[in-house]
Amino acid sequence: MTTAAADAGMPDPDLTGVRALLLDLDGVLVLKGEPLPGAAEAVRVLLRRGIPFRVLTNSSLWARDTLAGRLAAAGLPIEPGSLVTALSASADLAARRWSGRPVYVLSSRDALREFEGQRLLDDEAALADAASAAAVIVGDAGPAFTWPRLNAAFRLVLGGARLVAMHRNRWWLTPDGVTIDSGAFVRALEFATGRRALLVGKPAPGIFDAAYASLGRPGAGPDLPRQAVLMVGDDLRSDVAGARRSGLRAAFVLSGKQGPADLAAARRRHPADLPDVVAPSLFDLVRALD
Ligand SMILES: [Mg+2]
Repeated sequence: MTTAAADAGMPDPDLTGVRALLLDLDGVLVLKGEPLPGAAEAVRVLLRRGIPFRVLTNSSLWARDTLAGRLAAAGLPIEPGSLVTALSASADLAARRWSGRPVYVLSSRDALREFEGQRLLDDEAALADAASAAAVIVGDAGPAFTWPRLNAAFRLVLGGARLVAMHRNRWWLTPDGVTIDSGAFVRALEFATGRRALLVGKPAPGIFDAAYASLGRPGAGPDLPRQAVLMVGDDLRSDVAGARRSGLRAAFVLSGKQGPADLAAARRRHPADLPDVVAPSLFDLVRALD
């Protein structure tokens, strides 16, 4: 651990006082759909030692129980209740803010299950001449990002619907290679409508607050200061800067899409948003927890 940390120009990791973790998914636990080396062991150690953790991810392709099932199949025993996703946070937002009002969600079919009980417009209703909605929520729709759906979303936003982005990620690594992410479609809708989307996922503070609050449930102890919570991520902006601006500590791991060169660039451009800790992987961090 010290070698990679030293290579990146950071002091040795100091995890004193860390009592709970927030874990990014892609680049921390999995990469290109496969578990990263040591990730399963790290999760088992956390469970065995009773160290509270949540997986905090901008992933919005699958409902939490589906995602938990996929992770379990990959050897990562993570309960649906331990997942805080940009999708689940968007469904929570819609339930709070637009309860009973029509909402159009651009996402995968499985993701729609997170909105159970809410009033969603289907494609036909969204494309109807007099359609209107309280909000248009854009997530990982993949091949469902069709021109008719984007045009329906465009018209609804022009008609007054609030444009909501589950996240603004530009691209991600899949088993097929680098892949365009839904942030590009959010930007397209912003460009066409002249409206700015409300961001739900990292680095927006609300999702960090939600993940932190969920740690406070029974089992995590009555008092968990924000500085006792370490966000572990491979993205200096979404994970590290987002966590630090929310008052949490942040670890940057080199097992994902960014590396020492990105850290050096961040040191020049965003010196206030640097990680507290740098480590090669989650496993190295968990091993260093006292
Ligand atoms: Mg990541």
